[in-house]
Amino acid sequence: MAKITFLGAAGTVTGSKYLIEAGGKRLLVDCGLFQGSHDLTDRNWQTLPIEPASIDWVVLTHAHIDHTGYIPRLVKAGYRGPFYCNPSTHELCTILLLDSAHLQEEEAKFVQQKGYSQHKPALPLYTVAEAQTALNQFREIPRVECFQISPEFGVCPHDAGHILGSTWLELTITENGKKTLVVFSGDIGRYDQVILKDPEPPSRADYLLCESTYGDRDHPPGSPEDKLAEVINRVAKRGGSVVVPSFAVGRIQTLMYFLKELEDQKKIPMLPVYVDSPMAISVTDLYEKHKEDHDVDFSREEAAHIDPLNVANVHMTRSVEDSKKINDVVTPCIILSASGMATGGRVLHHLAKRLPDSRSAVLIVGFQAEGTLGRQIEDGSKMVKIFGEMVPVRAEVVDLPQLSAHAGRSELLRWLSGIKTAPKMTFLVHGEPAALESFRGAVDATYHWPVQVAGYQQTFEFNL
Ligand SMILES: [Zn+2]
Repeated sequence: MAKITFLGAAGTVTGSKYLIEAGGKRLLVDCGLFQGSHDLTDRNWQTLPIEPASIDWVVLTHAHIDHTGYIPRLVKAGYRGPFYCNPSTHELCTILLLDSAHLQEEEAKFVQQKGYSQHKPALPLYTVAEAQTALNQFREIPRVECFQISPEFGVCPHDAGHILGSTWLELTITENGKKTLVVFSGDIGRYDQVILKDPEPPSRADYLLCESTYGDRDHPPGSPEDKLAEVINRVAKRGGSVVVPSFAVGRIQTLMYFLKELEDQKKIPMLPVYVDSPMAISVTDLYEKHKEDHDVDFSREEAAHIDPLNVANVHMTRSVEDSKKINDVVTPCIILSASGMATGGRVLHHLAKRLPDSRSAVLIVGFQAEGTLGRQIEDGSKMVKIFGEMVPVRAEVVDLPQLSAHAGRSELLRWLSGIKTAPKMTFLVHGEPAALESFRGAVDATYHWPVQVAGYQQTFEFNL
């Protein structure tokens, strides 16, 4: 009997992992890391309820760590099969997984020195060498063409408009001569955004898994540019700096695009912009290479000798020394740095430095999961803990949800509108409990489909 087990992103936004079993074979869709509270991150250390060596194939929707960050751990635990993904996702994973491993190693070293580890000795979840080993198991599949993995499983990827290389998947399961079509939304992007294309809509699904990150709310209407300009002008006037915790993939490029436009239109002063993320620098190069994912016209811009993703006074900092030097900058500047939810990475140093300064501002531009430092700042905490020390939050905190990479509630409903025949079951995943429950009500009210919120480690049998 073909079935699905929800091994992550069920009742929460991170740890995406869906196990599909049919004809005695096992396929995993996404292999994400849990992020946020200790309860969630502890799951990364627990053994999976099934033997990793018994999984035959893994297919990835996109490169974000909450969809791929468990990969080295899966390999370490015995998985020897391929990780199928398109070329952009492969290249992004190479950057992101090595960085994730590096962060794990750094964090383990740091907590070991500080002596506040729960594990003794403090160990990384995986090392850079282990991430490298896992990357050797990646196999590229076409960006949009259908791909037959085995007699049991065929997959057709479609553009999800969320980040470079992001897809949603149509998985055709064949068992005993019967077929069923399962749609995995991955993460769905926004409509009418700059750089990336609109998400393609699905036209049919026997079963459907839909993300619900913003299932309970819509993003405010309008372009984020005006609000971005307002904040930058206000902060620059009072002599402060703007710190933006941002995902290296997508958000930083979108911010650069807007900053450049605002500079060109003379709506903001030409401030130094520090892109303090070696990953983001490498990722920006990939946009030029993978033109199939976006509508930025590099050829036109190149002809004019300008880079559409770079402002005039940009500083790309690769080395740790250069990163630390940004702490000495006392004149107004803009710092874009990862990680996006301030769960690690160089942005922690910048937050520790700038949060106590009432002239400065922190810009929240992406989803902040429960239990993350980013969420505490977004929720208005007056004191936060960084590197084991309490840091007062005196800087202004500005939410800019228009810059989100995720579809809002109406956009998710719009994405679903292409499906004319009700799926036998719609599972809502990748959301926090309130968003999932609210979106369940919305799907029910709009389409009258059978819909349920997927439970962690729940198994459901498909009716082929
Ligand atoms: Zn994502």
